[in-house]
Amino acid sequence: MKVLVINCGSSSLKFQLIETETNDVLAKGLCERIGIEGSNFEYKKGDGEKTGTLTEMKNHKDAVALVIKALTDPETGVVSSLDEIDAVGHRTVHGGEKFKSAVRINEDVIKAIEEVSDLAPLHNPACITGIRACQELMPNLPHVGVFDTAFHQTMKPEAFLYAIPYEYYDKYKVRRYGFHGTSHDYVSKRAAELLGKDRKDLKIIVCHLGNGASVSAVENGECVDTSMGLTPLEGLIMGTRSGDLDPAVISYLMGKENLSCEEVTDILNKKSGVLGMTGVSSDFRDIGKAAAEGNEKAENALKAYALRVAKYIGSYAAAMNGVDAIAFTAGIGENDADVRERICGYLTFLGTELDKDKNKTARGKETIISKPEGKPVLMVVPTNEELAIAMQTVALIKG
Ligand code: AMP
Repeated sequence: MKVLVINCGSSSLKFQLIETETNDVLAKGLCERIGIEGSNFEYKKGDGEKTGTLTEMKNHKDAVALVIKALTDPETGVVSSLDEIDAVGHRTVHGGEKFKSAVRINEDVIKAIEEVSDLAPLHNPACITGIRACQELMPNLPHVGVFDTAFHQTMKPEAFLYAIPYEYYDKYKVRRYGFHGTSHDYVSKRAAELLGKDRKDLKIIVCHLGNGASVSAVENGECVDTSMGLTPLEGLIMGTRSGDLDPAVISYLMGKENLSCEEVTDILNKKSGVLGMTGVSSDFRDIGKAAAEGNEKAENALKAYALRVAKYIGSYAAAMNGVDAIAFTAGIGENDADVRERICGYLTFLGTELDKDKNKTARGKETIISKPEGKPVLMVVPTNEELAIAMQTVALIKG
């Protein structure tokens, strides 16, 4: 089946058309600066060259129209008409407590996504705009919502409740939701397949280490804990996000720097993480280079980053009373051998040992990077959120 996967931001729209029989990406692209001067449309057909065109896009509907035109164009296209596409899968960030798996989108679903927009104000409204534009221009296709939060909905109260007055959970649903769920689900499935075992018989820790980063504990195929919380700010140190800190830091900084709560929250989201710790960059390639050149702040940031990941792995091994496999994924997890080595240096107490040679050459492909005699198995498993969305979309429409 052919599934068009759509991932909308407030001024961007990423897409991939995927053939799910073969997992081939038939075409993909990106609409940038939607509604802003200098909008750009990037498009790539299969293995072809990427093209970029400055094209006015006043809104998401213009962007979707361009996507459809490119996909069906006699020269650049990959289908002769929309009739050849079977469904549209929409990446949706926050599904609150309502959505525990992918759903066929209708007005009630859109209303429910709107209701939790407070929890993801940058993402959910953009997603709804994208869904509405797609529904308008592709009215005959089934539209499916795939939620970042859904995979984590199996967490029990002891994992998702915060130790604050219960009334805030009752009134406002303040709790841990977790994000990157599509990736944690996909990677834990692939990890089990690589081990030749059923995911239902395994305890797996997935470390999704990208610009945003989170760890999850997957026991018998279900998520039992994850490091991101009410919002994607909690947990690991990230590119620009602080992750865990003493909540009192917020009021302390507000007082000392005469900042509003929003301003401090903005600092914790956009100016913290390894960027804030080093002043160098949010990109781990730059941080690694600076550390190698003797920049002490960069070295400390890498050490702090690895320690935080290792502490989560240790706590999730405790939460599951054991761990069979630890999988590294996303930009840093798939590519940064130095960061993986730093993290795995803390894990020998579990009974595993990194094969440093295998680790050095493992880059962007599925690889076991631990020595054969040890357990848990350490592995690199590239994530593929678009493929996972396409697969969930197909599973849903096939019933
Ligand atoms: P993602 O959010 O999964 O796209 O990951 C993006 C991050 O991965 C970038 O900000 C980099 O810090 C990191 N990254 C990507 N490629 C590499 C690489 N080859 N070596 C180290 N870090 C990388």
